[in-house]
Amino acid sequence: MAFGSLSDRLTETFRSLRSKGRLSPSDIDKTVREIRRALLDSDVALEVVKSFTQAVRERALGDDVNKALNPAQQVVSIVMEELEAILGGTGRGLTFSKTPPTVIMLAGLQGAGKTTLAGKLAKYLKAEGHTPVLVACDLQRPGAVDQLQIVGGQVEVPVFAPEPGSGVGDPVKVAKDSLRFATDKLHDVVIVDTAGRTGVDEDMMAQARAIRDAVTPDEVLFVLDAMIGQDAVHTARAFGDGVDFTGVVLTKLDGDQKGGAALSVKGITDRDILFASTGEKLDDFEVFHPDRMAKRILD
Ligand code: GDP
Repeated sequence: MAFGSLSDRLTETFRSLRSKGRLSPSDIDKTVREIRRALLDSDVALEVVKSFTQAVRERALGDDVNKALNPAQQVVSIVMEELEAILGGTGRGLTFSKTPPTVIMLAGLQGAGKTTLAGKLAKYLKAEGHTPVLVACDLQRPGAVDQLQIVGGQVEVPVFAPEPGSGVGDPVKVAKDSLRFATDKLHDVVIVDTAGRTGVDEDMMAQARAIRDAVTPDEVLFVLDAMIGQDAVHTARAFGDGVDFTGVVLTKLDGDQKGGAALSVKGITDRDILFASTGEKLDDFEVFHPDRMAKRILD
C-alpha cells in the first residue's frame, strides 16, 4: 500500500529497540531521528514531521516509558497514538442535512479519482439505506459525463446530467437544477462531480466556488490522489483556500509509491479524512478510521 515503505522503515526502527531493556535518552533521540528521517523520506510535510517527532520525543522521555515493563513497546504505542492523532484522532462520518437532500460536492485535480469516487460513494450510501443521485457537473473533460453515466449504471444510481446535444454547458445551472430533481424524485443525497484540471488553476477554483455557492453543500470533499507525492500538500492548501473543503478523501492508497504527503493533509488543513479509495473497482472503498490506519502502518 501507499505507506508500505514508511511502514517498513518504522518497523525496522522498532526492531532495533526491542533488544533493549531501559532506554537511555540517547536511545530515544536516535529512535526519534530515525522516525523523522523515515517520515521525511516518505514525503510527510516538514511541519507535520516536526510537531510529530517533538510530541513523540517528549512523551518517550517522560516518566512512563522506563517504568513500563517493555519500554520499546511503550515507544511503539506512543508513535501509534501520535500517528492516529495526525490522521485525525477519532475521525468522523459524513454530515447529513436535517432537510434533505444532503448535498455532497467533490473537488480535486483531474485524475484524482473523483468520478470513480462518486460511484463508490453512491454505492456505499445506497447500502446504508439512502437514495442518492449523481450529478454531472464536469462539463469540461470530454467523456466525463459518459463516464459518470457508466459508473451510475454500474451502481444502479441515476445520473442527473444535461441532455445530450442540449447545448447546456453551465455546471452551476446543472447543479442548481439537480436539487429540484432530487426533491421531486425523493433522492435524499445529491453527489456533485465537478471538473478538475491537471494543475491548480484559478478558473477551476472559481467554477468550483460558483457551484458550491449555488448549492451550499453539506460536505465539500477534497479528493486527493495519495500518489502525487509532495504536490499533495500544495494542492491541499490550494483547495483549502479555493473552496474551503470540509473533508478529505484519499485515493489510490493501493499504489506502491510513497504516500506520506497524504498523511500530512489533516495537519496542514485541519480537515478530517472521511474515506479512502483503494483501487479501481467500485468495491475498493472504505470509511477512513485513523486508528486502524495507524495500526496498519505500524503492523
Ligand atoms: P477524476 O478525473 O478525478 O474524475 O478521476 P477518475 O475517477 O476518472 O480516475 C482517474 C483514474 O484513476 C481512472 O483510471 C481510475 O480508474 C483510477 N482510480 C481512481 N481511484 C483509484 C484508486 O483508488 N486506486 C487506483 N489504483 N486507481 C484509481
